[in-house]
Order: sequence, then structure tokens, then C-alpha cells
Amino acid sequence: MKSTHHFDAIVVGGGLAGLAISRQLHEAGIGVVTLERRAAFANEGFAINLPGNAIAALQEMGLGERIAGMGRPTKRREYRDHRGRMLFDIDEDAFWGQDCRPRCVKRNELMDLLRDGLPDSMFRMSSQVEGIAADASAVTVTTAGQQAFTGRIAIGADGVHSRTRALVFPDAATRAAMLSPSSWRFLAPDPGIDCWTVWAGPSGLFLLIPLGNGEVYGWASSDVDGSHGLAHVFRQFPPEVRRTADFLDAHPGNIHHSPLEEVRIPSWGNERVVLIGDAAHATAPVWAQGGALAFEDANALSGILADGSDWSQAAARFETVRRQRVAHVQAMTDKMSRAARLPAAIRNLLLPFVGPKNYRATYAPLRPGQVVAG
Ligand SMILES: Cc1cc2nc3c(=O)[nH]c(=O)nc-3n(C[C@H](O)[C@H](O)[C@H](O)COP(=O)(O)OP(=O)(O)OC[C@H]3O[C@@H](n4cnc5c(N)ncnc54)[C@H](O)[C@@H]3O)c2cc1C
Repeated sequence: MKSTHHFDAIVVGGGLAGLAISRQLHEAGIGVVTLERRAAFANEGFAINLPGNAIAALQEMGLGERIAGMGRPTKRREYRDHRGRMLFDIDEDAFWGQDCRPRCVKRNELMDLLRDGLPDSMFRMSSQVEGIAADASAVTVTTAGQQAFTGRIAIGADGVHSRTRALVFPDAATRAAMLSPSSWRFLAPDPGIDCWTVWAGPSGLFLLIPLGNGEVYGWASSDVDGSHGLAHVFRQFPPEVRRTADFLDAHPGNIHHSPLEEVRIPSWGNERVVLIGDAAHATAPVWAQGGALAFEDANALSGILADGSDWSQAAARFETVRRQRVAHVQAMTDKMSRAARLPAAIRNLLLPFVGPKNYRATYAPLRPGQVVAG
């Protein structure tokens, strides 16, 4: 090893979960270092939709005022069929209240917000974690560059393909999401939509969310092979969708294409290592809970670490606090994914009745002050 560095906590990964936990630990006066394999912070995914519980978690971090000035609020949702017919709509403002108004924001601006005010020295870029070894008193994390970091706890926030998870639970594998094998995220000019709008048809789902400044953030998923372009996959959809798909086919740099993978594992850590965010529980983005759960994880775990001196029980306590809420999001994701896979004619007949019910059943227990029933 070239050199060994000592900290209280070592965070593996500088994505949303890693930045959030690093911020919270630093604020709590806990010595923390964040090891990120990339040379610069990533901006994959372009933007992110933050439901009310993500906003509440950011408020808990003291970032409420700042987030309220970013991106665009999402006041209403519309669910339509592929001919543009309204299936149902949701007044999100009324549901979440003005304090927790959902927002769509650029991902890099959110990452900057989470890092704001933190010393650069906390972050070790180009630090790819390769090994983790623990004994009764310490954990040692080693990088590809032959650096060693010792601490009292390692926090794996290294995403869906977590190296930390593979080292601690070698048998834990990711699984393909039930919703569809692949999806596209993108930024495009606003084709003239009023609010968060999804169109559901036989060839897939197409979602557009206004981001402000004449832009929309979008997400599309389909079982149809996309090699002939998005305009081909969504050719039966309304003009707003077709215009956006045409734009994206002409500007492939505005698209991020990724497989949809999930992580469902029975344990999130041991005496010296805790997994958070996607590393612990990546879930298909049906209810846009990835960011929210990552921030809530960070708040919960930092509270536990700040509260007690025996960190060997931190992973167990963290699971006790977080497991039911995450299981609720996973169960509702499965329910919606099954509904999305029904033949379009049946699904669109059912959605006006079950859609609003599913929205309330998913989000009501996640509102501030609510507890997910076991
Ligand atoms: C198509 C799609 C759309 C989505 N839309 C939304 C949405 O609208 N709203 C929402 O809330 N969520 C959404 N999500 C989910 C959300 O993007 C994730 O839940 C969230 O990014 C998870 O954050 P994370 O920090 O746990 O993982 P990541 O963001 O993946 O960050 C992990 C970090 O760890 C680093 N890393 C990995 N391995 C190592 C290593 N060995 N050593 C050091 N560093 C390492 C990576 O470089 C990365 O920076 C979406 C997901 C998908 C796939």
C-alpha cells in the first residue's frame, strides 16, 4: 500500500446517497471521507423528479429553502392513453401540501447543492474501491490506486452494481426490473405540456415532466427494440410525444439508455459495513423514489451514528428503522409494474379506477409524519 488514511467513516461512492450521507456525517462532526471512482461528479440521468418525501428529506438536511428555488414544481399529474385521452389526473399540490411540493430539478444542480459548503478535501475522486477487510475494531477500504482508508465503519453508497455489496454479500445479484428490460432518460425542448404527463400505449410508456426554461425531462420504457429510433417505437402516440421522439432521434446525446435493474437483498450490512441507496435497494423508477429513499437513508443512518458510540449495531438499527418503508415502495413498484404490463386495452379501462387509488396507497404512507404499517 502506498499510504493509509484514518477517518471515522468511509463512504464508498459519491452519487446522491453518498453525497447525502457525507453531508450529514460532516454536519454531525463525524470525520468522513468519500471515495468516488470517477474523476468528476456524474450527471447521468440529466434531471430527477423529486416527490414530496424527497423534498421533506432535503428539508431535514437544512436544504429546504435552496431546493424550493430550483427546477420547477410539479403541481399536477396527468395519466393519458396513447391517443391522448385522459385516464385520470392527480392534484399533487393538494396531496403533498405547499411545503412538500414535488419538483423536477437538474441532477447536476442537485449534486452541487448536496456538496455545497463541504470541504473539497472530503472527496477523493478517481478512487475506485476494490477491497474491504474488517476485524473487531476497524474496517479497511482499499482502492485501485493502492490507497488504504481505515475507519470504524464503511458505508456502501456505490449504486446498483455496488462493489461493497459484492464484497460483503458475494451471492447477492441484481435482477431485471419487472416493468421492462430497458428505458431511456432524456432532456428535450418542451413540446407544450402543462404538467407531469405520462402516455401509456401498447408499445410502452412515455413520460414528460416540465423542468422550466423551455425544457422537459423525460423517461420512456418499452419492450420494443429501440434500434429504429424512438419515433418508430412511439409512432402511434400524440404529437407532443412524436415531436419529442423526433428531436431525440436527431440528438442522441440528449438520451441516456440504461437497463432497469433492481436489488432485493435480505440484509443491508454487518458490524462494520452498511449499504444505503441503490446499493441496498435499487428499485424500478415507477414511483420516482430512488432519490427520496437515498436521502431518507442518509438522514436515518447519520442520526444513528451521531447518537451512539457502539457503531457495530448501526447496520441492524438502520434496518429496523428503514426496512418497512423500503419494502412498501418495492411492493407498490411491483403492483404498478404488473398493471403496466397488462394488455393496453384492459389496463386503460382499469386505470381511471385503480390509478388514483394506487397513487394514494403508495404516497400517503410516505408523507411527513406518516409511518408505513408493518
Ligand atoms: C431510468 C431511471 C430514471 C430514474 N428517475 C428517477 C427519478 O425521477 N427520481 C428519483 O428519485 N430517482 C430516479 N431514479 C433512481 C435514481 O437515479 C437512483 O435511485 C439514485 O441515483 C441512487 O443514488 P445512489 O447514490 O444510491 O447511486 P448512484 O447514483 O448510482 O451513485 C453511485 C456512485 O458510486 C460510484 N461508484 C460505484 N462503484 C464504485 C467503486 N467501486 N468505488 C468508488 N465509487 C464507486 C459511482 O461512480 C457513482 O457516483 C431513476 C433511475 C433510472 C434507472
